[in-house]
Amino acid sequence: MIPPLLPTYNRVDLSFVRGEGPYLFDEAGTKYLDFGAGIAVCALGHAHPHLISALRSQADKLWHTSNLYRIPGQEKFAQRLIENSFADTVFFTNSGTEAIECAIKMARRYHYANGAPERFRLITFEGAFHGRSLAAIGAGGAAKYLEGFGPKVDGFDQVPFGDPQAVVNAIGPETAGILIESIQGEVGVRVLPQGFLKRLREICDANGLLLILDEVQCGMGRTGHMFAYEEENISPDIVAVAKGIGGGFPLGACLANENAAKGMTPGSHGSTYGGNPLAMAVGNAVFDIVSAPGFLERVRMVSSHFQQHLAMLLSEYPHVVGEVRGRGLMLGLKLNVPAASFIASLREKKMLVVGATENVVRLVPPLIVDESHLREAVDALSATCAGYEAERKAK
Ligand code: PLP
Repeated sequence: MIPPLLPTYNRVDLSFVRGEGPYLFDEAGTKYLDFGAGIAVCALGHAHPHLISALRSQADKLWHTSNLYRIPGQEKFAQRLIENSFADTVFFTNSGTEAIECAIKMARRYHYANGAPERFRLITFEGAFHGRSLAAIGAGGAAKYLEGFGPKVDGFDQVPFGDPQAVVNAIGPETAGILIESIQGEVGVRVLPQGFLKRLREICDANGLLLILDEVQCGMGRTGHMFAYEEENISPDIVAVAKGIGGGFPLGACLANENAAKGMTPGSHGSTYGGNPLAMAVGNAVFDIVSAPGFLERVRMVSSHFQQHLAMLLSEYPHVVGEVRGRGLMLGLKLNVPAASFIASLREKKMLVVGATENVVRLVPPLIVDESHLREAVDALSATCAGYEAERKAK
């Protein structure tokens, strides 16, 4: 018999009733260290007082009006994102997939507005993940997400990860742009080769293509920079963000420069809920903190300490940990043991992390973690590694 919840998830038999900072508490009051942060979402941890107060005060006033009217919180948040990025304009969504959908439509519409409607194809990369809508699974190209859902949405040409020549070879008369995660998340925290984004920018400029970045997971401070592309010193045309932008409130955004957005005229795209007053109150409150002086520097410092600890784990337990990956607080351990059992073992030690395809565990804690939380995490990770090592030696 089918369960009341459509069984699309293999859920862990655990539920939480309360959160506080980087901790979650289950019904029995057991405390868990949350280094998964709702899959890199809860940027400020759980129950952050500034977010609670912003949400409560907006909840007392007004929740939803629709995009038929001006929404001052949207205008304010868009302006702040523009002042802190490459962008000239912003469309607010409820999720990462919707931000990606807006980005794909915008790229197609750009060429349409330029009198070249035949240019609708995007070059994407092996290992990509852009969400679960029909267009997003087409862009991601993973067989496991496409299977059984009919013909793959046309318009996506996938090339090997990190190979600029393959990108050049894939460009044809119908190519509209390049879509890439600044750091691949879902496949296992794969950082792009140094200079790769710069090379893609050059290829786009030389061929009249738009450079579209998926920063749904790696954006909004996660790497210790507001946007991951900043480290590569490039200016993209379109960027999709979500996850951390709402700190747990469903919110995403598609940012674009004026040129890329030229086709998006009234009526060309829309969302009933996107950027409603409640979402904007929380989004602005998250941004107050993430954009405050010193916040991102602190993320970089904490990350550097965490990476030192993880490098020690790697040298102490090479049979368990194969590689440390990532930037900022988007880190991954590539394991030489099954990720699922490693995650279960950490959970027994009351620490939560997220898996990724390439036998990687993602360490994506709230950006507010401090040294004491790192120490707790490293203790749980070490104990888990030691368990595998003892098992190996006993064999
Ligand atoms: N793009 C990337 C890089 C993601 O990591 C995700 C979600 O994990 C998405 C898009 C889709 O976002 P959402 O699940 O909010 O629709």
